[in-house]
Amino acid sequence: MNNSELNNRVVARGREFFSTISGEKPSLFNKGAWMGKVMDWSMKNETFKIQMFRFVDVFPSLTTGKLLTDHIREYFGEEKDMPPVLSTGAKVAGMLGSFGGAVLNKVLTTNIQEMARQFIVGENTKEAIKNMERLRKDGFAFVVDVLGEATLSEKEADLYMNTYLELLDSLKNEYREWKPLPGKGGDPGLDWGHAPKVNVAVKPTALFCLANPQDFEGSVVAILNRVRKIARKVMELNGFLCIDMESYRHKDIIIEVYRRLKLEYPAYPHLGLVLQAYLVDTDKDLAELLAWARQEKVQISIRLVKGAYWDYETVKAKQNDWKIPVWTIKAESDAAFERQARLVLENSDICHFACASHNIRTISAVMELAKELNVPDERYEFQVLYGMAEPVRKGILKVAGRIRLYCPYGDMVPGMGYLVRRLLENTANESFLRQSFAEDAQIEKLLEDPEVTAERERAARAAARKPEQKGPAGLSRFNNEAMVDFTRGDHRAEFPKSIAGVRKQLGRSYPLFINGREVKTADTIPSVNPNNPSEVVGVICQAGTVEVGEAIASAKAAFPAWRDTDPRVRAEYLVKAAAAARRRAFELSAWQVLEIGKQWDQAYGDVTEAIDFLEYYAREMITLGTPRRIGHAPGELNHYFYEPKGVAAVISPWNFPLAISLGMVSAAIVAGNCVVFKPSGLTSVIGWHIVELFREAGLPEGVFNYTPGRGSVMGDFLVDSPDVSLIAFTGSMEVGLRIIDRAAKVHSGQENVKKIVCEMGGKNAIIIDDDADLDEAVPHVLYSAFGFQGQKCSACSRVIVLDAVYDKFVERLVSMARATLVGPSEDPAHYMGAVADEKAMKTIKEYAEIGKKEGRLLYESKVPGDGGYYVPMTIIGGINPEHRIAQEEIFGPVLAVMRAKDFDQAIAWANSTRFALTGGVFSRSPEHLTKARREFRVGNLYLNRNNTGALVGRQPFGGSKMSGVGTKAGGPDYLLHFMDPRVVTENTMRRGFAPVEEDDDPVA
Ligand SMILES: Cc1cc2nc3c(=O)[nH]c(=O)nc-3n(C[C@H](O)[C@H](O)[C@H](O)COP(=O)(O)OP(=O)(O)OC[C@H]3O[C@@H](n4cnc5c(N)ncnc54)[C@H](O)[C@@H]3O)c2cc1C
Repeated sequence: MNNSELNNRVVARGREFFSTISGEKPSLFNKGAWMGKVMDWSMKNETFKIQMFRFVDVFPSLTTGKLLTDHIREYFGEEKDMPPVLSTGAKVAGMLGSFGGAVLNKVLTTNIQEMARQFIVGENTKEAIKNMERLRKDGFAFVVDVLGEATLSEKEADLYMNTYLELLDSLKNEYREWKPLPGKGGDPGLDWGHAPKVNVAVKPTALFCLANPQDFEGSVVAILNRVRKIARKVMELNGFLCIDMESYRHKDIIIEVYRRLKLEYPAYPHLGLVLQAYLVDTDKDLAELLAWARQEKVQISIRLVKGAYWDYETVKAKQNDWKIPVWTIKAESDAAFERQARLVLENSDICHFACASHNIRTISAVMELAKELNVPDERYEFQVLYGMAEPVRKGILKVAGRIRLYCPYGDMVPGMGYLVRRLLENTANESFLRQSFAEDAQIEKLLEDPEVTAERERAARAAARKPEQKGPAGLSRFNNEAMVDFTRGDHRAEFPKSIAGVRKQLGRSYPLFINGREVKTADTIPSVNPNNPSEVVGVICQAGTVEVGEAIASAKAAFPAWRDTDPRVRAEYLVKAAAAARRRAFELSAWQVLEIGKQWDQAYGDVTEAIDFLEYYAREMITLGTPRRIGHAPGELNHYFYEPKGVAAVISPWNFPLAISLGMVSAAIVAGNCVVFKPSGLTSVIGWHIVELFREAGLPEGVFNYTPGRGSVMGDFLVDSPDVSLIAFTGSMEVGLRIIDRAAKVHSGQENVKKIVCEMGGKNAIIIDDDADLDEAVPHVLYSAFGFQGQKCSACSRVIVLDAVYDKFVERLVSMARATLVGPSEDPAHYMGAVADEKAMKTIKEYAEIGKKEGRLLYESKVPGDGGYYVPMTIIGGINPEHRIAQEEIFGPVLAVMRAKDFDQAIAWANSTRFALTGGVFSRSPEHLTKARREFRVGNLYLNRNNTGALVGRQPFGGSKMSGVGTKAGGPDYLLHFMDPRVVTENTMRRGFAPVEEDDDPVA
């Protein structure tokens, strides 16, 4: 704002507003009622607030008395310890003692349903219309929205769309009868003389279950196909359709849907879009939309909100190391709102404006801006949410003469997500309503120009900013590499561009790399694109025993100097290699798309993980490289330090061809070993890129040797070599155990007992508890099981579902699977692509057949018949622990579904294989989550999320039992496996005199 005259008028109007509603409170903050008490408690007690809101979230799935009683106890303790606000109702009824839990159940159920009803205008169309008619009688217009949070299938998307169509059919019969709301406009048939009586809002992502910025075009088209049907119906009623805005991830998709819809109906004025002022992008988005509307000569309508997903956006961005897309100072959102409102009002000839806020300062600013700019009444209106800020809505009605209430309706289950958002919004410290009505903040402060508030807050934050935390040796603190961000147009565009660039380089020959020199061999094998095996990615020279012998010899020769190189210098090479990989991230991803059939995000994830390993191990080694003093006795110095083992053979798999390979290689190298690296034959071209990264980093000759080769020719030779002291292997259990077996034998001339760092397979299970949030569980299970065709050691291959939710879960899982497509991975419309090679394809298909006999086929997808190594997405139900597909690792897209009678049985089944790699649990029972932590014995257990995608430094990865020897890649202990510890003890006492060390034990 920063316009003192206008600001003075805004403040004056705000004061007047406050005075007209003086003494009134929104019902949410009325402490006389249960809801008001809960809000009060929540604002005073953060722990209670979290428990209460989580309980509200799980509440709709507590379908039996026992589930309800158990959860009340688990969330709030025994009755005697319960916060009075919860037990009051029952105590007042005088029944708690005599009837115990049953009464409490009833009281809580009634109160929570009542609370939901506060925000939801009805549970079905009939009830909603009746209540909206009642609101109209009180002078309020409505915008109606069908509650729909997560849509998981085409069926659910159709259902959501059809609810709108039915709603509109019902409204068609009613709306003509409604008396228009009074106003100054010229059309007596419309509300206020200018506005359609029927106004509908729609959540676009509920119209397509796979909406995803990676597949931008596919998402836009799919959403538009259903929005269009709703829009046509709305137009039949001469109604208004507004497309709501959801999380930032979908923002550009939604804007594009709006633009295309608008261009299909350019003359229809009543199509609107929501923009969120809390997004940093919105100034630009709004300016572009207005310019576009002028250019296209179309009328648009913007509902401006601040935005409902602030916490989600900040947490997600932090987790993925993305730029935070929202303003982080509340007043910045307020100021952005005023700035953007001004821009819309300045363009009122082409843009209708809906101001959606409960904030009296914001509303007053819009009123004064509109007045200053002479914007006619019919070009702007005010909107608030049903059930919130009743005094504010009354005040607006009085001053502006027109207000619209946003009225969601529908089932309790999606309703709870909406309810929790409203509860969070109203109890947030920053909430205008909380500050005004629950905390009685000073009116001056509430009405202050947000630019001024924001400036003050920025200065305070700058003064309080803590110095950045540093890593060792002047490096920055380790931070995971940022994930690819498909909300960014440039990231989306990079993939097709990089794939085209890589495609031009296909078919080249790749030599070996030994002792810093390229070595060619007569024996070569091609590496092909599994989605199109006739496409040769590269032709790779194959090392025989002679070349492997040379590589081992060169590594051995390079070892003494490398061992004696300062660990900090060794670490620098890794940091340089990481920089090279970072610069080439999209290109390295494109190689993976073509050589092993990773989807875009999976390929990029592999590259960022590789970078993480380099950066993480570099820092770890710097720390470990400093000898530690142990013991504190005076006169004695004990130094504990590490030395590398010698020559390391690194044998890596094809499924994480850069990440796992570079992880093992870089750990060995930075610890001071010299490496002979054998990549998988299926991904040797990507293996070659490791040569290039280390070349660019300037790694000394002989430290890293690249020797792709046929396992049958040179595998045993490498493992058996007496000069190899360490073998790092990731791959199948069969090969892993064979390596362990062979490496135990001591050969002539061998000086070291071979150390084996070995990661093997998994038969990973996810448990779906009877109170699980299926909206979350279903997509996560699908992704865990079928992301990259299920070819991750961490992939979910068994889902163990509790009997009570089995049918529902399976129905939704299969329906979501049906919505996905299988085809070449380079096309982001495909959820799944081809598997690694023909052999894998055959084996997986055999397992699918075994599964079909052992259980019952629930789903088998179609696959392209174009010669790619495709295996259908396969889901098999009725599987028991003794079945082969419940025990044997398949390493492909075959998911076994098991029905367990209770949680104990589910845990027992989950633990019933020889493997112990990853596991997952979807549950909202605190007790069950605790039990799983204790008893679900796997290396990596994931609670309420997918069980793939472990991050270096955050989820160190690796299992036990037949899954591995207990090393954790990307964790603080990993490098220790690549070194031997040594201790040097010096007696510092000479002739009775010993220098005093700082950390000596005091003598007295
Ligand atoms: C009719 C209507 C329709 C709506 N439709 C949508 C929609 O389609 N999509 C959607 O996302 N929301 C929608 N909302 C919800 C809306 O986003 C919230 O109700 C609104 O943000 C609350 O703002 P306020 O001005 O009422 O309250 P205030 O208390 O002034 O503002 C609260 C808002 O400030 C922002 N905020 C909070 N903390 C910070 C911080 N630290 N830094 C920066 N900003 C912060 C958040 O957006 C928060 O919601 C709609 C609201 C209405 C009334």
